[in-house]
Amino acid sequence: MSFLKESVNRQPLADAVFAIAAKAKEDKELNGPEHVVDATIGSLYGEDGKLVALDTVYDSLKNMDNRVLAKYASSFTGNPDFKEHMYDWGLDGNSSLAHDVVATPGGTGAVAMGIDEFLEAGETIILPNIAWGSYKLMAQMDNLNIETYEMFDGDAFNLKSFKEVCEKVMVRQNKLVIVINSPCHNPTGYSLTDEEWAKVVEIMNECAKSVSVVLINDVAYIDFAYGQKAAKKYFRAFDKISDNVVVEVAYSLSKSMTSYGLRCGAAILLAQQQKTIDEIVTVFAKDARATWSNINNGAMAMFVDVLDNKPEEYNAERQKYVDLLQKRSSTFIKEADEVGLSHYPYKEGFFVTLNMDNKTRDAYHEALMANHIYTVKVNQGIRVAVCSLPVSQCQGLAAKMKKILDTV
Ligand code: PLP
Repeated sequence: MSFLKESVNRQPLADAVFAIAAKAKEDKELNGPEHVVDATIGSLYGEDGKLVALDTVYDSLKNMDNRVLAKYASSFTGNPDFKEHMYDWGLDGNSSLAHDVVATPGGTGAVAMGIDEFLEAGETIILPNIAWGSYKLMAQMDNLNIETYEMFDGDAFNLKSFKEVCEKVMVRQNKLVIVINSPCHNPTGYSLTDEEWAKVVEIMNECAKSVSVVLINDVAYIDFAYGQKAAKKYFRAFDKISDNVVVEVAYSLSKSMTSYGLRCGAAILLAQQQKTIDEIVTVFAKDARATWSNINNGAMAMFVDVLDNKPEEYNAERQKYVDLLQKRSSTFIKEADEVGLSHYPYKEGFFVTLNMDNKTRDAYHEALMANHIYTVKVNQGIRVAVCSLPVSQCQGLAAKMKKILDTV
């Protein structure tokens, strides 16, 4: 007998990251941290091996009046000044569409609310074949089916597969809900080019002649894109969406502000018609009220304060870590290319992923751990979290990993 609802999947959560991170920790305690490469952690770490917590952010938070921290937010969709700043910061002026913003608990809240409210149980969501694991879990919790498009065609985004999967799903339901995680795709570090985005919009518009189309664009790592402001120009492509297309940009302050635990993010909704946006926000507001109620007031106030009062310091502090990330990833990638360690097309972001079939991956993952190298298994690959590896540990790592791969 079970007390849970019939339809819920009762398998325990199999979290690939936390279990392996625990093993790495144990190894470090046993053999000394200098002998262990822990490339599991998906948060930004400094060269000192400690979590990065931006001073500009935490100075602002700690200077808040206690009552600001204690208060409820002023609206279930987020404080008005937060929403305004979120839209301005998030899209950087690169949109002419009708819009509104709903504050959410992290990017997770934004993606989950979209998945929850756009599809009925039994319908199908379209996801990338290599992806952040939570999308699948969200789909499972909502009793959705999943169709996946291939992320890559060589070194490019696989537009052909994307189009085919959209066309396949359109036959059986009158709506498409699609997730694209770009820029800085987790786990490969791929970012679609402006031309690829233009084609994606063309494909969505074509589909939208017969069904409604929702694009959930997960931009969790966008503020660590190497192009910075230029990395937000692609939002312009969305200006060309038809009336029957909606874009939900899922924003995460976890990465942008290094404030993972403060649980703040946003769903930025874009469409041609304001009435389309208003209808969605009415439902998102009720969903928010019925689940998390309202968002951390201190986190929203901190975001507004940082952008109003010290934007230059914040940008400069973040840029230091963008540069560091670039140094780590380029060190690893350059050596990987030299020794012939194959990886997916990396452009920017927290992770590099080696490409291989799942059978090789399983054996390789074990062999790496036997050599004190801890990584995360993803579909058809091994994820290396350069975001938490000091430069010294990125050096020589690819050669070591290639040697181990040759024994598998
Ligand atoms: N999207 C992707 C691809 C992620 O990797 C993450 C976090 O790991 C998130 C969204 C959401 O993060 P948060 O809910 O902390 O904002």
